[in-house]
Amino acid sequence: MTRTFAEARSAAATSVATSVQAALKRAEEHKHLNAFLELFHDSALEQAARVEARVKAGDAGPLAGMVLSIKDNICYKGHKVSAASRILEGFTSLYSATVVERLLAADAVIIGRTNCDEFAMGSSNENSAFGNVLNPLDHTKVPGGSSGGAAASVAANIAHVALGSDTGGSIRQPASFTGTVGFKPTYGRVSRYGLIAFASSFDQIGPFAHTVDDTAAVYNAMAGHDPKDSTTSRRAVEPATLEHPGKLRIAYYREGLERAGMDPEVVAHLQAHIDRLKADGHTVEPISVPLLDHQVPTYYILATAEASSNLARFDGIRYGHRSTKANGVDETYRLSRSEGFGPEVKRRILLGTFVLSAGYYDAYYAQAQRVRRIIRDHTLATFADYDLILSPTCPTTAFAHGAITDPVAMYLQDIFTVQANLAGTPAISLPTGTHSNGLPFGVQLTAKPFDEARLLAASRHLF
Ligand code: GLN
Repeated sequence: MTRTFAEARSAAATSVATSVQAALKRAEEHKHLNAFLELFHDSALEQAARVEARVKAGDAGPLAGMVLSIKDNICYKGHKVSAASRILEGFTSLYSATVVERLLAADAVIIGRTNCDEFAMGSSNENSAFGNVLNPLDHTKVPGGSSGGAAASVAANIAHVALGSDTGGSIRQPASFTGTVGFKPTYGRVSRYGLIAFASSFDQIGPFAHTVDDTAAVYNAMAGHDPKDSTTSRRAVEPATLEHPGKLRIAYYREGLERAGMDPEVVAHLQAHIDRLKADGHTVEPISVPLLDHQVPTYYILATAEASSNLARFDGIRYGHRSTKANGVDETYRLSRSEGFGPEVKRRILLGTFVLSAGYYDAYYAQAQRVRRIIRDHTLATFADYDLILSPTCPTTAFAHGAITDPVAMYLQDIFTVQANLAGTPAISLPTGTHSNGLPFGVQLTAKPFDEARLLAASRHLF
């Protein structure tokens, strides 16, 4: 089992079927991690055989030999998908997400669906209806969330690449906690068709991998306009070729180094990195995060509002779980939703319904939209002077299971990640160091919208 796709591609001796079999075996051996909700043995081996035939015929796609996992909120026709929720338990996808179609067309092999927080709501994977995921690097710690199983599937060397989704940090924070690369593209760069919606104006699909090269390979194969998602951009995709980006202008967030609650070792490491970049001739200057203390509240008002609307479709009639105790339509709705959704999802539906309600709409939802606009404008203005913004991905390394029980404390995990979702910018978390506690942590780089090629090139060469 090769660790990266690039190794798999160059290991000509390894057949696709052999490496897929090895991945499935390794997933079984690591069942205790609870990273996978299901392995797709049959379809994975069938696809492996097809890809192998194309390799032999000399017309294989760019991802031939890639072992891929998909988060359990991405649809794959004929396969179960549940968003790690009881309400969708047993539901089978009727169609494939565009990303799935594109990656299969590029000859990747999907080996299974990964555990996550229910409807991608969480920062620790402790909100899954199907149990916690263990951090492969330290089983007492969470893998991060909401794409915790995705991160674990890569960190445990089961999949070369995992697809996750990032609404407020759900790719980047677990990447930081598991020592992997986690990349959220620009809003509108990758199709959301076939992604179970959480907050539609924030959600983006993106990859986890061990290397920037593997990240770029998947990005190149899945980015671009999709007629089935009207929020995708028609702008041509600039492929990430990973050439050296030259000298860059990099801003870093003062608050990322000074804020209370920051782990001192993470701060010291970032400072050393900044010094190294300066010594290499890059311009590196401190700036302030726009409205830092307003970002998390703004995100949680808007994301819950959108979630309350998106999740209204799970009513016990059309999808998944229907209460057997209910009499009549009203009770079917009420009991099916009460039984089907977990506590965090209920909290968010209630909060989102409240901020959208007639008496509070202006005070919360409309106001948060205005604040979002200001944050977006500030963020984009920064890119008039700088190519990249550097910050920590998270304040600390992975925490222990059960360590954070207060929802607001959990929401503050997203302090440095929600800005990219509020502003729609691409952002990446790169493994940058190992703490004296033995755990990895990430550095986050953000670029202006649609500047993925430069962001990935800088990630490849500067970090
Ligand atoms: N932790 C954030 C939340 O719980 C982000 C989730 C995500 O990006 N899907 O909403």
